[in-house]
Amino acid sequence: MFGIPGLQLWHIVAILVAALIIFGPKRLPDVGRWLGRSITDLQKGSQEMTNALREGMSEARAEQQKNNTIANPAPTQSVPSGDNKFCTKCGSPNPQDALFCNKCGNPFPTQS
Ligand SMILES: [Zn+2]
Repeated sequence: MFGIPGLQLWHIVAILVAALIIFGPKRLPDVGRWLGRSITDLQKGSQEMTNALREGMSEARAEQQKNNTIANPAPTQSVPSGDNKFCTKCGSPNPQDALFCNKCGNPFPTQS
């Protein structure tokens, strides 16, 4: 979600390019070895971080879901039947103040 894997890859590429510039192609094998160790450490660290992050996020999501169900129980499409007017064309229920049928677009006669 926060682009950590992408960022990490980008960092590795940046380090590689910087190493190429600083050490030159001749010393790249040494740099590669050093880099390999660094990446292993980095991955170990980021794995722990990702786990912690994922744990925290799923906890937050569960919490949010709980709050959502309390705040708005079930997103209902159906309007209470007392407030409905029914489309003359398709018969689907619409709110009283609807100007057009929300299903087929049939215009309702304006009540006055
Ligand atoms: Zn309709």
